[in-house]
Amino acid sequence: MTVSVKQYYPVVIVGGGMAGASLALALARQGIECAVFEAFVPNTQSQPSFDDRTVALSAASLNILRHLEVPIQQVSEPIDNIHVSDEGHFGFARLSAEEIGVERLGAVVENWQLGNALHQKIEAVAGIDYVTPATVTQLQQDSQQAKLTVELTESSAEVSAQLVVLADGARSPLRQMLHIDSDIRDFKTSALVCNLATQLPHNNCAYERFTADGPLALLPLTQKRLALVWSKPREQIDDYLAMSDEQFARALEDTFGARLGRITKVGERKSFPLIQQKAETLFRGRCVLIGNAAQSLHPIAGQGFNLGLRDVAVLSQQLSQASDYGAYEVLSAYQESRNSDREQTLCVTESLARLFSNTWTPLCLTRNVLLKALDTLPVVKGLFAEQAMGFNFNNSELAAHDE
Ligand SMILES: Cc1cc2nc3c(=O)[nH]c(=O)nc-3n(C[C@H](O)[C@H](O)[C@H](O)COP(=O)(O)OP(=O)(O)OC[C@H]3O[C@@H](n4cnc5c(N)ncnc54)[C@H](O)[C@@H]3O)c2cc1C
Repeated sequence: MTVSVKQYYPVVIVGGGMAGASLALALARQGIECAVFEAFVPNTQSQPSFDDRTVALSAASLNILRHLEVPIQQVSEPIDNIHVSDEGHFGFARLSAEEIGVERLGAVVENWQLGNALHQKIEAVAGIDYVTPATVTQLQQDSQQAKLTVELTESSAEVSAQLVVLADGARSPLRQMLHIDSDIRDFKTSALVCNLATQLPHNNCAYERFTADGPLALLPLTQKRLALVWSKPREQIDDYLAMSDEQFARALEDTFGARLGRITKVGERKSFPLIQQKAETLFRGRCVLIGNAAQSLHPIAGQGFNLGLRDVAVLSQQLSQASDYGAYEVLSAYQESRNSDREQTLCVTESLARLFSNTWTPLCLTRNVLLKALDTLPVVKGLFAEQAMGFNFNNSELAAHDE
């Protein structure tokens, strides 16, 4: 996109991936002008945020994206039911939108389709300078402003801002520049992802199956496809990537069972190392963290971007009431508002990843009792649904239902 870069913006967002692009739209809705600097041009193979992976969006995230008018209805597939099972054990649980009394539990969209929809909307609204390719290489700040150096295609620019938002992903080069430490937990597993087709229709059901090696999720996708996210010990991943499509389909059928009949088509397989990371603070000076730059999660509960989108909703709300966007009071109020949702989601996700990847008999029994309780006790079901749909936090009008 050809945009001439100004010397000053009230807010600069570093990273125009899912979190950064969503925040730009949320700010535009509040009438706050911003620049987004993104290293990779959209719709290119190298763009890391908008690749072939899929994202399961919670009902709260769908509300946020609807309020931001991001056009994903045509390219997303609703989740009406969730089926959770444990390979080789008695426990299983089911949850349906109908019994919870909601229209849908969530929806699934391919990352590149979500990227297209976000960019389509960004191009249609005023107040956002989305600059790409543009890499932020330096960051300095004092009590009045933050200053950035941005490398553009054939030149560089110096830009100042009241507030710099770090939406530059889990590795976050800028977080490192600010010397913000992270708590890192390596699960020593990788997620193998691919899209596939099956003999029987998915009927808008999301399947989560726990196996001795790690959890396996099959999510309903458009065009009668499903998205697979299969966690495996890292040393096994290369073998699964090297299998022929036929061998891979049979291995998956052996683990998942016959619920969807034979696997008839297997798409390109890719793998991602699974590491949980949590920044020790959400702001330093006039710089604030959102999305994966703030925390990245195991995908077992499909909560990473959902949590990042709640960062977006809360930060944009805090900024709508501020006169100096980078003021200490504003950023500490954001951090305060995010604490419990962040802690709870990280804790639940890590516990699930550890509890459901363990073959120790007492733990197997515990989780099967938990699954039984989830299937039969309305209170437990309600709590699970609230967490899965992202309504366990209540501090943003963007996530709220329309009246
Ligand atoms: C296998 C897998 C499955 C997942 N499934 C789900 C799911 O079902 N539901 C869910 O909610 N989440 C899921 N997630 C998590 C989700 O993918 C991430 O939370 C999300 O992609 C994070 O988006 P982000 O914008 O914060 O970071 P990123 O996607 O990493 O984007 C960061 C952006 O910053 C840019 N950038 C970096 N440095 C600079 C710089 N110096 N200057 C300019 N630009 C820069 C990068 O080019 C990139 O575009 C899953 C993750 C994995 C690995």
